[in-house]
Amino acid sequence: MVVVRTIAECRAERAKLGNLALVPTMGALHLGHLSLIEYAKKSAPYTAVSIFVNPSQFGPREDFTKYPRPIEADLEKCAKLGVDLVFNPSPEEMYPPQLSPIVVDLPQLTEVLEGKHRPGHFKGVCQVVAKLFNIVQPQLALFGQKDFQQLRVLTAMVEALDWPIEVIGCPTMREPDGLAMSSRNAYLSVDERERALAISRALLLANGEVKTGERRANRLIASMQNTLLDVGQLGRVPVSIDYIAAVDPITLKQVEMITGPTVLAIAARVGNTRLIDNIVVMP
Ligand code: AMP
Repeated sequence: MVVVRTIAECRAERAKLGNLALVPTMGALHLGHLSLIEYAKKSAPYTAVSIFVNPSQFGPREDFTKYPRPIEADLEKCAKLGVDLVFNPSPEEMYPPQLSPIVVDLPQLTEVLEGKHRPGHFKGVCQVVAKLFNIVQPQLALFGQKDFQQLRVLTAMVEALDWPIEVIGCPTMREPDGLAMSSRNAYLSVDERERALAISRALLLANGEVKTGERRANRLIASMQNTLLDVGQLGRVPVSIDYIAAVDPITLKQVEMITGPTVLAIAARVGNTRLIDNIVVMP
């Protein structure tokens, strides 16, 4: 496995490889990331992983500074899985101060849900992924359904800019009790982790309701809200809800009735930790 930290080295090493699948990450790799890498290995002869905590996708009051950066453990995991190339640049390498920042925006997809609560987040995501695509030049890029809006926005960016890259979405990996794996779970205390379970539980219960015939989005949203706020009745600080939504997976517009595949999405804060999760339900 070759590990490179500059764009020039990355280009040189990439040129030695054939068809390549890229897994962009911010590191602190868990089984969710590793499932993407495994999928990449099956889908292309060569696999690259980028590890970069991208400052431009964090808001001013978000966790950029404290975001975990266990780079040695991450490299060991990549090596074990047989990754060919790891690109681990510094913020200065990616964003030299003399360069004007470039903005790619898809407002119809980026101003809702996460975009509404994290202004500028998707501009940062599109900026870094566009740069990574140009530097690494993958044939395939893999992203998690866990960040379903990000997956949708990046798929739309690749289509809109005619990039010859196949974007593949991979299923959300969960802990045995249902909690979606996330690098941010490391912030949770034992008590918070228990309360965080309400998020996946709310989604699973709503999915069950769809299976038994509920089609009204407002009923499903109310039921998810009840599950999330129930935790507070146990006498502990409740989960604080950023949003609960039922949206079309392509347009990300709110739906009123479940008449086709629909994404139920939740963003909530548990203590100081903001978590997101979603599930696709079918009528
Ligand atoms: P991050 O390091 O959080 O930027 O995530 C890197 C990639 O891993 C993104 O495409 C995420 O959607 C994906 N990912 C994060 N958590 C999970 C998970 N639990 N299951 C599957 N993919 C995930």
